[in-house]
Amino acid sequence: MPRPVPAADLGEALRLFAGHPSGRLLLVQAGVLGAVRAAAGPLRRQDVAVAAGVAVWWPFQEWLAHRYVLHAAPRRLGRRTVDPAVARYHRRHHADPWDLEHTMLPSWFLLPAAPVHVALWLVAMPTRRLALTGMLATTVATIAYEWTHFLTHTGYRPRRGWFRKLQRRHRLHHFKHEQRWYGFTVPFVDDLFGTAPDPSTVPTSPTVRTLGVEDHTDGASTAAA
Ligand SMILES: [Zn+2]
Ligand SMILES: [Zn+2]
Repeated sequence: MPRPVPAADLGEALRLFAGHPSGRLLLVQAGVLGAVRAAAGPLRRQDVAVAAGVAVWWPFQEWLAHRYVLHAAPRRLGRRTVDPAVARYHRRHHADPWDLEHTMLPSWFLLPAAPVHVALWLVAMPTRRLALTGMLATTVATIAYEWTHFLTHTGYRPRRGWFRKLQRRHRLHHFKHEQRWYGFTVPFVDDLFGTAPDPSTVPTSPTVRTLGVEDHTDGASTAAA
């Protein structure tokens, strides 16, 4: 029996999001970083520039990571098969788009990513204050991405607006063609990269649920011919 579409209203969706381990982790991370950054002093022009840089870069990395990492097919490298765990996890999401548990980034990815994220900002920025601004901006962008993606997979259906467009496009990605509509939060990126054609011109892909990969129960994966 098909799984029912979860969470028909915003309040229920928010409760499920905040109750998910990854949602909780990100909200706590944003709270801690917000408090530490506030204690470091007022925002200056450079802080605004760093936050603006993150806001511009984020939708492009989102598209690129979705296209080239999450949809990466397993590859043979000598005797080994390279099949990143996040790509396998994303295939599970495509196999059952109404399973909210696997809609969000897993905590086994977010937890080890946190110290890497901190280290990168500390190395990249000239001061600790700007590094904190960068960490906070990236965490807020991650929450915006996670929440938007999560909400597109619920029964919440606004009649119009930005989110309505995002939801429509993301559902086309899941149910029409997995190699189109890669953007999550900014539809413009798909328009720019030519991955948002008129849906009536796109045939329904037979591999929209599998991404053309056979995932076996023993954990092995093979690219379908
Ligand atoms: Zn999705
Ligand atoms: Zn996808």
